[in-house]
Amino acid sequence: MNKRKSLDVFGFLSNDIGIDLGTANTLVFVKDQGVVLQEPSVVAIYENSKKVRAVGAEAKRMLGRTPGNISAIRPMKDGVIADFEITEAMLRYFITKVSKNPKLVPPRVVIAVPSGITEVERRAVKESAIHAGAREVLLLQEPMAAAIGVGLPIDEPTSNMIVDIGGGTTEVAIISLNGVVYTKSIRVGGDEMDAAIMNYMKRAYNLLIGERTTEEVKMKIGSAVPLDEEQTMDVRGRDSVAGLPKTLTITSEEIREALSETLQSIVDMVRSALERCPPELSADLVDRGIVLAGGGSLIHGFDMLLTQATGLPVFVADDALRAVANGTGVVLQDLSLWLSEAK
Ligand code: ADP
Ligand code: MG
Repeated sequence: MNKRKSLDVFGFLSNDIGIDLGTANTLVFVKDQGVVLQEPSVVAIYENSKKVRAVGAEAKRMLGRTPGNISAIRPMKDGVIADFEITEAMLRYFITKVSKNPKLVPPRVVIAVPSGITEVERRAVKESAIHAGAREVLLLQEPMAAAIGVGLPIDEPTSNMIVDIGGGTTEVAIISLNGVVYTKSIRVGGDEMDAAIMNYMKRAYNLLIGERTTEEVKMKIGSAVPLDEEQTMDVRGRDSVAGLPKTLTITSEEIREALSETLQSIVDMVRSALERCPPELSADLVDRGIVLAGGGSLIHGFDMLLTQATGLPVFVADDALRAVANGTGVVLQDLSLWLSEAK
């Protein structure tokens, strides 16, 4: 990359920041410091006044436990911005929390957004960030950020394939020579895995379980391929017939079966990306393989399932949950250049 020096008069006083505005988690990277904040993308508001009661981890604890006048909302839930005002409130909270002196010296902000969002939504995110206290805003496509974050050689004339499995969406991209050759986003991810587990428990045992319990089951005993030693777990919920609390022991085999359809739809998406890949780039992937990022990629054995389905090597990124945020951090190093190229 051709490095040009630019004079940034605020540079000494402000810290530029990168934000991974995820459907499940928001991460903030402060230049030269790293990821300083990692919190759920949840906002709790008062129903009547729409005023913000809590943001992040505090708001997530309220999910499913709010009295009538408060509701806990995930504004980015399906990879689209459900509510601009709430998104703005959330951005303001995060920007203010990490900035040294946001009022005096507003930070420049890089925001990674899902590649599937519309032009209107892109503009809304930018405006929200400006309202929330940013001086300048650069939007970066999430799979590009993830690829940069995991250190793929995206500027080389070779194929880099990244699959980012988040909460609300999964994004796949093939990148070569700093450009996105193919990208696709589907509204399937960790949330849908949770929904599948919840439905299974209801169908098979009349047991209603909460969001947090469900996520715990998924992380502890969820899997994509048979385990060397299958596991069991006690799950608590409410019996929908008797209406009383109940504890059941479930097995990893059952949960795998419950998850299989959702995982298969992610596999199908990757296969259709491969079918649309130009032949030279496709050939590169035989050696270079597919890199997985995002929290959903941590489901046990998903890399093996994808290898079985594609015949390609598959790697889970070391810092899968932070790949996108780390990518914004790399961009911050040359932010003036990126901003001038985006104009
Ligand atoms: P987003 O980018 O959409 O905010 P993340 O990349 O932060 O999403 O991933 C969040 C999703 O990853 C959630 O659905 C969460 O349950 C899931 N997840 C996190 N860790 C694990 C794990 N160890 N096993 C399975 N799923 C996980
Ligand atoms: Mg993400």
